[in-house]
Amino acid sequence: IDVQKHFPIKSGILQKTAGYVKAVDGINLTVKKGETIGIVGESGCGKSTAGRTIIRLYEPTGGKILFDGQDISHLPESELRKTVRKNIQMVFQDPFASLNPRKTLGSIIKEPMNTHNLYRGKERTEKVEELLEKVGLNASFINRYPHEFSGGQRQRIGIARAIALNPQMVIADEAVSALDVSIQAQIINLLEDLQDEFNLTYMFISHDLSVVRHISDRVGVMYLGKMMELADKNSLYSEPLHPYTQALLSAVPVPRKAGMARRERIVLKGELPSPANPPQGCVFHTRCPAATSACREAVPQFKEVKKNHFVACHLY
Ligand code: SF4
Ligand code: MG
Repeated sequence: IDVQKHFPIKSGILQKTAGYVKAVDGINLTVKKGETIGIVGESGCGKSTAGRTIIRLYEPTGGKILFDGQDISHLPESELRKTVRKNIQMVFQDPFASLNPRKTLGSIIKEPMNTHNLYRGKERTEKVEELLEKVGLNASFINRYPHEFSGGQRQRIGIARAIALNPQMVIADEAVSALDVSIQAQIINLLEDLQDEFNLTYMFISHDLSVVRHISDRVGVMYLGKMMELADKNSLYSEPLHPYTQALLSAVPVPRKAGMARRERIVLKGELPSPANPPQGCVFHTRCPAATSACREAVPQFKEVKKNHFVACHLY
């Protein structure tokens, strides 16, 4: 993946393009089969747009998305259906908004099977029942409606629908953010079990650093549409290199071990700049405690500064 997604800003009655929101302005990563890559960042950093672009709900403005070696960046919908739509599925934050309230769980979960012509008649019903049980629900729920279920159960329904086609990859966008902490843990355990069983690859997008730490193998940190840092989970959390990652992590309460230095909370100055008008040079320079004049001029390259640890910052 090496993509940009810019949205035009329309203005005036002629709706002329007045500029672009650089929602995703350069993320470059390779997701390995069977891994969980976490993507963190504040709301508005472009992580959802990145997920939606990868799954080709959006067409990228620049760059490339390779899936199993195939360039899917500009495939038409008819072609997408054959590859991407079947193999990469998404789980959204609000399962209630993404589940049709007038449809039974059976028809909700069968829908992707209809579209992709998978399974027939009785076999399809059996498959739905099996999926309901796989996600910890009861096969007898097949004729019931989404409103009869709790938030956590609805997220299980969303997951059943996402895995109905045996996808290779699932992109979860804030999939547990609306749930209570105890329910979050159950859903994460479910995702982990399903990953083991079906060898799924996950991209887990969230603003919640603790949740991402729990589920991910590697973690990428985004700011204003750019990837700032990417590393194995343990190096990222124990040795964050980018000043933005350091600030984000300093806000997460950690249990202190005896003798460990207290982590000072780093409070970022200023507001998140508009992605329609991002700062020149390093996009983080307006808020970075370590910024120098070089940071205002040159865009730092995203480079590997230690084994498997990438960072975009002039300090390295
Ligand atoms: Fe801060 Fe400069 Fe590094 Fe950007 S490049 S994060 S402004 S030190
Ligand atoms: Mg989002």
